[in-house]
Amino acid sequence: MGQWITKILDKIGSPELDWIQVEISTRCNAACIYCPQPLLHKKQNMGFKLFKQLIPYLGYTDLVYLQGWGEPLLNPDIFDMIQVCKARGKRVGFTTNGMLLNAETICRLVDLETDILGVSLAGTSPSTHNRIRMGTDLVKIIGNLEQLQQIKAQKGSLYPALHLAYLMWASNFHELKEVVRLAKKLGADQIVCSNMTLIMKETLCQEAVFTQQEKQPYFISLLEAVAQEARKENLIFAYKSPVLGNESVHCSENICNACVVSVTGEISPCVFTSPTLSQTDGQKPLVHIFQNRTSPCYPLSFGNIGQESLTRIWNKKEYRQFRKFYDIAMTKFVMDPQPVPKSCMSCYNSIMAGSIGGLRA
Ligand code: SF4
Repeated sequence: MGQWITKILDKIGSPELDWIQVEISTRCNAACIYCPQPLLHKKQNMGFKLFKQLIPYLGYTDLVYLQGWGEPLLNPDIFDMIQVCKARGKRVGFTTNGMLLNAETICRLVDLETDILGVSLAGTSPSTHNRIRMGTDLVKIIGNLEQLQQIKAQKGSLYPALHLAYLMWASNFHELKEVVRLAKKLGADQIVCSNMTLIMKETLCQEAVFTQQEKQPYFISLLEAVAQEARKENLIFAYKSPVLGNESVHCSENICNACVVSVTGEISPCVFTSPTLSQTDGQKPLVHIFQNRTSPCYPLSFGNIGQESLTRIWNKKEYRQFRKFYDIAMTKFVMDPQPVPKSCMSCYNSIMAGSIGGLRA
């Protein structure tokens, strides 16, 4: 009886989400020079048992994105996880560094009709990409993606759609000129360019494009030229603005209609507030650089999926208040302005000038 009432209550106030992002691994086979993953104290996979706790809530979303601070293909349960979601009519995707895409893995992803395969790039030449995404090899990644194309053609399948995820840096920006050609060659149908908004080392500050004020006209004109080329080739091209806005009044992430589940089941509004980034076991907290100052990463969890229902977590007062701060539609009418959430005070996503072309998967 008690369980029955809990189920009914769970239906009331259930969120309507665009996606649920699930961190299925914090292990990685690479060591990208900007990524916090190598600094994590504990590296682990999400167990299938914990993942299955999400099944009752899959009805709240259209898309499940299996992504966090790690390489999803290192979790051997990934195929079962995809299968569970597909069996419930969900779209499923993940982003990979592309190094583990062999024939067997590709065949399984195609057969499961995995919807989206994002592949991370930080350049279109091997020397640039491999320097930034250390431990990966662009030549091998391209070979793997050619194999993906062949296997899809052999099986007569359109799955998975290939999305190229290009990390814009000051020193790799010029190579964006080649990204449309590369996308065409690999049969990609979407290119998404993002900024480095979590800066782990002082030496990397100058690589964040939004810090290079004087080069902004160049960045914008090149992005517009690439967007035009992509349109001609019928490719979707989306990019985050390379310019900072003025005020901390919005978040460029979709926090009002999406949530992140950490590798241990903690629910956060975004990957930047994920408890994964907090070093436990007596280790020092991770720090990052924000506007020339060192700042700790503040973890923010509203509950654990292993202990509470997603509906209950989503409707907690603290979580509602957090979303209310960023819900632009509501803030217009709010009489008592909320203080900026502590975890967002040192986040570039709160002052990005917004997305151009949209970043919906
Ligand atoms: S502004 Fe806040 S909610 Fe948005 S990405 Fe940054 S830390 Fe997350």
